[in-house]
Amino acid sequence: MLSTMQDVPLLISRILTHGSTIHGSSQVITWTGEGEPQRRSFAEIGGRAARLAHALRDDLGVRDDDRVATLMWNNAEHVEAYYAIPAMGAILHTLNLRLPPEQLVWIVNHAADRVVVANGSLLPLLAPLLPHLKTIEHVVVSGPGDRSLLDGASVQVHEYEDLIADKPDSYDWPELDERQAAAMCYTSGTTGDPKGVIYSHRSIYLHSMQVNMAQSMGLTDADTSLVVVPQFHVNAWGLPHAMFMTGVNVLMPDRFLQPAPLAEMIESQRPTHAAAVPTIWQGLLAELKAKPRDVSSLTQVTIGGSACPPALMKAFDELGMRVCHAWGMTETSPLGTIARPPAQVVGTDEEFAYRLTQGRFPASVEARLTGPGGERLPWDGESAGELEVRGPWIAGAYYGGQGAEVLRPADKFSEDGWLKTGDVGTISPDGFLTLTDRAKDVIKSGGEWISSVDLENALMAHPDVAEAAVVAVPDDKWGERPLATVVLKEGAGVDFESLRSFLAGEGKIAKWQLPERWTIIESVPKTSVGKFDKKVLRRQYAAGELD
Ligand code: ADP
Repeated sequence: MLSTMQDVPLLISRILTHGSTIHGSSQVITWTGEGEPQRRSFAEIGGRAARLAHALRDDLGVRDDDRVATLMWNNAEHVEAYYAIPAMGAILHTLNLRLPPEQLVWIVNHAADRVVVANGSLLPLLAPLLPHLKTIEHVVVSGPGDRSLLDGASVQVHEYEDLIADKPDSYDWPELDERQAAAMCYTSGTTGDPKGVIYSHRSIYLHSMQVNMAQSMGLTDADTSLVVVPQFHVNAWGLPHAMFMTGVNVLMPDRFLQPAPLAEMIESQRPTHAAAVPTIWQGLLAELKAKPRDVSSLTQVTIGGSACPPALMKAFDELGMRVCHAWGMTETSPLGTIARPPAQVVGTDEEFAYRLTQGRFPASVEARLTGPGGERLPWDGESAGELEVRGPWIAGAYYGGQGAEVLRPADKFSEDGWLKTGDVGTISPDGFLTLTDRAKDVIKSGGEWISSVDLENALMAHPDVAEAAVVAVPDDKWGERPLATVVLKEGAGVDFESLRSFLAGEGKIAKWQLPERWTIIESVPKTSVGKFDKKVLRRQYAAGELD
């Protein structure tokens, strides 16, 4: 027997309508680098999103399922595109502006994007790619930048503001199937070609509700969130959608992502919450030490994307910013776990250890651990295996390309349809995930596993160490051994022997796990989204560049 409940599809247009009416006076504040930031209310964003949808449909001929790409920083126009494109029935494709040019070309051609909405400041990146982008017919330019870079391009060029100027500010949003594609995002291609994940209206809607839960980010319309995590990186962790549900004000840094302007915008705009990967926070911390600012408004900081080093969490705690650690991936929309300690440990000595885990699975994300032989491992906080997940905002396949079937590679999806995350860790009986490594980064030494993350965290707790990345290198006797690459703080001169003793001290790291290979580097190579790029380090070591 079916229920007696209404069957109302969960659509992006409904989030937009809700946010722009019920929370119409909440604001998207965009940093402009000079003078007052740009302020736009959710009501205005709603009107402008409707105008953009009219322009895309009537002037550019965008139809259902057409892919409309964005090559943009975090700003109000990008939020407008986030809503207009899926709400009208087309597909938003956010492009990662930090990818190497050849990967961007591959991705745009694979997705067969018809239109790209670009920030003027990114035209130096876009213009040289255009001759290789086979399916792009229109470029819509927004914000400052040299338009003459597009002279001679064989596409139609439009000015964003001119395009939407005379359009109606309401739109009769179509009643779509909630399972329809709303947005797509490609993984950053750390292993092989990037893979396209396609989010549905339903998956984004449900994920946004989860982001808003008190045990997740739990923000309200009394908050302002500084969204440093890029909108091109897994929908900025769902924040632009979640915030229209609850009226949270949004502070967008645009292209000003360096530590100094970030500190300045925190001091002047007084956000209460911020979200970014650890490398951004490391930079901000150094900036605040060098030049203290009033950052007292910022009491909640969400850190994810890679493991949050304990030293970083402690340093932020001391500044009054409470770090909340979260784990996720492009394939998980991205929030998969979030580390809110259980009520009974809050205020006790156990609390910090809980906060350092990757966090607890929310309702709707099911998890299991698989051992090397395919066996299921218990949730005992000790048995380490590959994490597999499933749920309504977890990918079940990758986009195969136009006209092609979706892809379900056996190394990414189990036979019964779970996502194999490639992350290795343990789960405690109360559902807290602790990642010990990525499957491909774990160091296999003499039949035992050494966690590169444990070594890095222990090293980064040393007062002279700014950053540390540990990779496996071949070893005749043990198969693999750890190589520690260390970035020292300015003026520091610690030697390797003292670093080894520091690691061994207080039983932090077992003796057999201590690295015997060390090297000082200037900075750890980073991926397009600011994570340690260990494959570059491994390559440099193989080429003899790291001795
Ligand atoms: P890519 O896979 O190309 O790096 P993603 O942004 O999808 O792009 O990365 C997801 C991966 O990032 C996860 O599988 C995990 O290895 C890592 N990750 C994300 N959050 C955390 C975290 N809090 N702790 C440790 N690793 C994390």
